[in-house]
Amino acid sequence: MPTATHCPYCALQCAMTLDPAGPGTPRVAGRDFPTNRGGLCRKGWTSAELLGHPERLTAPLLRGPDGELAEVPWATALDRMAHEFRAARAAHGPEAVGIFGGGSLTNEKAYQLGKFARVALGTSRIDYNGRFCMSSAAAAANRSLGLDRGLPFPVTDLDDARAVLLLGSNPAETMPPFVRHLERARAEGGLVVVDPRRTATVRLTEEGGGVHLQPVPGTDLVLLLGLAHVVVHDGLADRGYLARRTRGLETLLPGLAAWWPERVEQVTGVPAERLRRAAHLLARRREGTYVLTGRGVEQHVDGTDTATAAINLALLLGLPGRTGSGYGTLTGQGNGQGGREHGQKADQLPGYRSIADPAARAHVAAVWGVAPEDLPGPGVPAVELLRGLGTEGGVRCLWVNGSNPVVGAPDAGAVERGLRALDFLVVADFFRSETAEHADLVLPVLQWAEEEGTMTSLEGRVLRRRRAVDPPPGARDELWIMAELARRLGAPGTFDPDPAVVRDELRRASAGGRADYSGITDELLDSGAPCYWPHPAGGTGTPRVLLDRFGHDDGRAVLVPVRPRAAGRAADPGPPAHRRPALHRPGTLTLTTGRWLEHYQSGTQTRRTASLRSDRPEARLQIHPATAAGLGIDDGAPVELTAPAGTAVARAQLSTDVRPDTVFLPFHFAGDQCANRLTGTTAVDPSSAMPEFKATAVTLRPLAPD
Ligand code: SF4
Repeated sequence: MPTATHCPYCALQCAMTLDPAGPGTPRVAGRDFPTNRGGLCRKGWTSAELLGHPERLTAPLLRGPDGELAEVPWATALDRMAHEFRAARAAHGPEAVGIFGGGSLTNEKAYQLGKFARVALGTSRIDYNGRFCMSSAAAAANRSLGLDRGLPFPVTDLDDARAVLLLGSNPAETMPPFVRHLERARAEGGLVVVDPRRTATVRLTEEGGGVHLQPVPGTDLVLLLGLAHVVVHDGLADRGYLARRTRGLETLLPGLAAWWPERVEQVTGVPAERLRRAAHLLARRREGTYVLTGRGVEQHVDGTDTATAAINLALLLGLPGRTGSGYGTLTGQGNGQGGREHGQKADQLPGYRSIADPAARAHVAAVWGVAPEDLPGPGVPAVELLRGLGTEGGVRCLWVNGSNPVVGAPDAGAVERGLRALDFLVVADFFRSETAEHADLVLPVLQWAEEEGTMTSLEGRVLRRRRAVDPPPGARDELWIMAELARRLGAPGTFDPDPAVVRDELRRASAGGRADYSGITDELLDSGAPCYWPHPAGGTGTPRVLLDRFGHDDGRAVLVPVRPRAAGRAADPGPPAHRRPALHRPGTLTLTTGRWLEHYQSGTQTRRTASLRSDRPEARLQIHPATAAGLGIDDGAPVELTAPAGTAVARAQLSTDVRPDTVFLPFHFAGDQCANRLTGTTAVDPSSAMPEFKATAVTLRPLAPD
């Protein structure tokens, strides 16, 4: 009997059925659902191949005196883990123990991990890989709109869109079924895409008569200031809406005045006339216009201000908080939304509450059966947590869940060194990922089709993940692992291994919070009814948030003035001053990283999927032919990239789709090909602690052909 569930990969959470009947790999089929309408991308179609994969972990692995990982019984593994947690705490205090989570974990696991860290371990040291995804967009939405729900409206609202500004997002590759929601806007020539590369999404846009703005990486903020300048200067702003629904216009306007299109062109490389055309295209109708951001503009050290500039533009146009128009961010990881709502993040408690808020602490502590004063305060963001690994005052004993920071975290080489310096590293995964290779203990856990739980999609809709097949006998659910560890540690409160029990507790813990799940019962979920948060007990869900009022106390959105760093000299004929000096060293190019259709995140899963691996077996460095010729680099030749953080090697792929001053490297690959050995952490976004992924100065050197 086929089981109705959802894809394990990205935040679109395409609906599918999984039929294990018959020999071999369970059969996947797309299922009709509003977000994907039966469609799946290649990753979704091949997702079941990993269930019976020969490299699947089926027993705990403990590193022995010989330095090798060897199978041990679960009781041995858990006893040892509890012992190491206790030893680290006794020797160095509770903050010496840490947890690093993931944005693909179910809501139940993300919730329980946050509780486990604070209650069972007594540590504030928990954060997750979503910090590297969209924490800046979340910070911007909270600051400007008073609420962060990736898309504050259902995806299907976009079906009627007439104009869409896509900033740093390439859904034609990263979530192909999403693109059909843009069809009307595309057909009417209403797509505007901001991307330093000519991507699959850009080609669709151009075919429809839309506009591609191709800025120098790292200049998105200036580009957005330029668009806002045109909107204001050309009388396109919605003054009535601004008066009714926002505050701060008077503080915003002075900062926009200086960014006339010709000046913006000097900084971004985007022709002034094209910028004007884009602004007028977005303003030609209020109804049916949307502004959507993606990682391309968010994964910067000024990511929060850049996302804020996108929201300011949307507010000037009068789009957010109305039916039929709006602003949103396209969440990437499968449960990137739910993962950041329920306590896996260093500064948050369940229900999207601040851990520094006394009322929130009291509410959650009561649900957990502990005293509020026993809960630790805010922890440190992921970059800081990983930077301190193995150091005095840093984490000495780390548990990594559903994440592969050796490939996915910035300055991956330093992360690898940090993991080696730990007293004890535990990794829970279903494959021996590159991070697991450094572990003292590896715990084999369940894959998506073997577990029960809920996920929250990019539109804030809570979905059931269903068990369709039995797991291998030796694999265990993280909820069971936490229950066993809590018992061994003598933790207060309860840690139930049953997802339904944990979900019920999550409902109570989230009640009254911004992400209130208290009314999302199992009966509702099972009925197939759309369950959008906030959904208070006894009330109804909220497909469209912010319609009547924004999330701030006065109900208004805030226009927050933002400006490029050290922007004063940007009109000089020389290099634009706001850009990081490293980008302008003679001979350097700007590296931008991103995703391919065939792979997901650090590639732990998709690099093990036969057809995906055979089509995309290794990293390729996208480089403009003129740039390559100048450096003596042939198509297909190996190239060494060097950045302050480290080096990487990839074969060149010559393409006019990338700017001559820019190179692109996907971040799905490990070892020498790891793009994140080049991305640094010397600076992070001051509001969200987002490091820089999209604009890194690199030098290139052709290597001898092999
Ligand atoms: Fe899965 Fe995302 Fe592809 Fe849909 S678009 S099939 S959710 S990876």
